[in-house]
Amino acid sequence: MRVVVTGGAGFIGSHLCKRLLEAGHHVLCVDNLITGSERNIAELRHYPHFAFLYHDVTQPFAFEAEAIFHLASPASPVGYMEHPIETILVNSHGTYLLLEEARRQQARFLLASTSEVYGDPLEHPQREDYWGHVNPIGPRACYDESKRLGETLTMEFYRQYRTDVRIVRIFNTYGPNSQPNDGRMIPNFITQALKNEPLTIYGDGSKTRSICYVSDLVEGLMLAMFHPQTTGEVFNLGNPEEHTVLEFAQTIIRLCHSSSPIVFEPARVDDPERRRPDISKACRLLGWHITVPMEEGLRRTIEWFSKEQSSLSAIS
Ligand code: NAD
Repeated sequence: MRVVVTGGAGFIGSHLCKRLLEAGHHVLCVDNLITGSERNIAELRHYPHFAFLYHDVTQPFAFEAEAIFHLASPASPVGYMEHPIETILVNSHGTYLLLEEARRQQARFLLASTSEVYGDPLEHPQREDYWGHVNPIGPRACYDESKRLGETLTMEFYRQYRTDVRIVRIFNTYGPNSQPNDGRMIPNFITQALKNEPLTIYGDGSKTRSICYVSDLVEGLMLAMFHPQTTGEVFNLGNPEEHTVLEFAQTIIRLCHSSSPIVFEPARVDDPERRRPDISKACRLLGWHITVPMEEGLRRTIEWFSKEQSSLSAIS
């Protein structure tokens, strides 16, 4: 198939492009590099069926595709708080333009949404039919609310035009190609632990998170797009194994053989207390399962960050 991946030079998008190429698809990666990096797709340029288009998907562009994965959006708090308007536009107008193309070309469309649509959830774990608890005017709203609007647009294209859409709500994902300074918990902790610097915990460390290794997430994206009978469906994709932030910090210090202390800073505004997906729908309908245990995924990620740090310090 000819497949378009918007945001393909980002963390998850780069892994998805590689997985699609390995499956024999032709991939057009479209990215304006606002938070992504050409480094992430450097190795993909050797595939004959890979093409990169430097483009802002809030502007129309010509392409032919049978499937469109719409991943373009700043995703880390640092990224979307630095680019709030761009974040709103790519998730609203960008989503609209891509849905129009999916409708015109009768292509499959997948919206990469987020667990942030649940806000600071009052139900635990979160199922797809939970409506969320979101602050519409807080500093995270540019991300949460624009993803919610993107979901609404996607479902209206399904209801009005029967466009072949699906929505995936991604929970915290980690792995190689994530940006070391993007403010997300795992990259932060690993970068700090590898340098034996203090690990910063916002709050008292009792908030919980569940993290999914990127290869598992990408398998979920592939299934959601290509598995039969996913049209019009919404799937949570993430790892339901829940740990406190303090436990993540301690595990990473141990796996990095680090001497870093842990320091506590005030909790961030609107940072959710607990986040854990209910993935029973994806397991049942897609046959999707987590295969990479947390410590194994963390080891692979630490190894990648450690190589990155060495190559960056060799350059400087
Ligand atoms: P990322 O920032 O690494 O990648 C996003 C990519 O989109 C970047 O390469 C960026 O340059 C590109 N982009 C942004 N705006 C664009 C525009 N207007 N035109 C073209 N390209 C644009 O983030 P990621 O972690 O890879 O996230 C990918 C998707 O998954 C996002 O939609 C995000 O909301 C969603 N998601 C990610 C996570 C996670 O844990 N990583 C969790 C929930 C949802």
